[in-house]
Amino acid sequence: MEADPRVDLGGFYWFTGDTIAVQVTFLGTSSGVPTRSRNVSGIVLKLPQRSELWLLDCGEGTQHQFLRSDLRPSQITRIFITHMHGDHIFGLMGLLASIGLAGQPHPIDLYGPPPLADYLKACQRYSQTRFSFPITVHPVEPGVIFEDEEYLVTCAPLEHRVPAFGYRFVEKDRPGRFDLDRAIAAGIPAGPLYGQLKRGETVTLPDGQRFNGQDFCAPPETGRKLVYCTDTVYCDRAVTLAAGADVLIHEATFAHQDAQLAFDRLHSTSTMAAQTALGAGVEALILTHFSPRYAPGNAIELKDLLDEARAIFPNTHMAKDFWSYEIPRRRSPLPSASSEAPQPTQGTKKAAKITEK
Ligand SMILES: [Zn+2]
Ligand SMILES: [Zn+2]
Repeated sequence: MEADPRVDLGGFYWFTGDTIAVQVTFLGTSSGVPTRSRNVSGIVLKLPQRSELWLLDCGEGTQHQFLRSDLRPSQITRIFITHMHGDHIFGLMGLLASIGLAGQPHPIDLYGPPPLADYLKACQRYSQTRFSFPITVHPVEPGVIFEDEEYLVTCAPLEHRVPAFGYRFVEKDRPGRFDLDRAIAAGIPAGPLYGQLKRGETVTLPDGQRFNGQDFCAPPETGRKLVYCTDTVYCDRAVTLAAGADVLIHEATFAHQDAQLAFDRLHSTSTMAAQTALGAGVEALILTHFSPRYAPGNAIELKDLLDEARAIFPNTHMAKDFWSYEIPRRRSPLPSASSEAPQPTQGTKKAAKITEK
């Protein structure tokens, strides 16, 4: 594992690492009810190179958690709701109303189960709330729910007492980095030729030397994948949704010993979450949505849930409120780091001389 890039500032973290990392911050990690140290569900994705936040679930008090963090609700552009239970949606109206009063500058898109639109309309009607900015509610169905030039978001139904959806956030692959030093070393003059090489094209210099752009570019960078599964009992659809993800955020409401409660209430144990991570072949698992029954001093504590999960899936983390996790970009090495300098391909006196030797 790589060195931890976080610096602990008394419960908050300042990142010293790659600024193009996707940052995931937990604003609430308790299930059902808040506790003194854990609010109900709310997770923020901070997207690199965009001043945008995406919010996953919005339990009661989420706007207060924003105030206690360095994240700004005015940057929220999309909100993804997993299901209609109160610990995932009771913060929505308050948050949206406050954003509106603060002079929200841009529209917000909401994604969630079909009843979400009716719920918000009813709240608006009975509280006579008017929003000063456009809110669009997109009822989700399994499959693609959002796509732009950089991201693809899909969802799949999970197994809970009401319809619940897991979300998969995929960053699209990007072209590999251009090896500027290598181009300079090859004697290629700066200018439009570099643009052609970056696109993988072959260029011809005035003296007839030809260079293949692919010799100057790293392999394409694989986009990062984050999957969020809550609330659910173990199900194969979660494994499929999480396949190959960099990070799986999965609920672990109960300890393994309380598996019967998990089956009865259609929640997961720590070991079910770990089995899902293992089956999906993810890089890292983050547990959240914990029952308050495992507070310190009880017979089973949260660290026991972490130990249980790690016995099955070692790279497991346990979320706490205001904890952030950074997903670095998967960068490929530049060509100069791994191979000989490129030679012109044909049609040059220089090349002919090399051949003769
Ligand atoms: Zn819940
Ligand atoms: Zn629920």
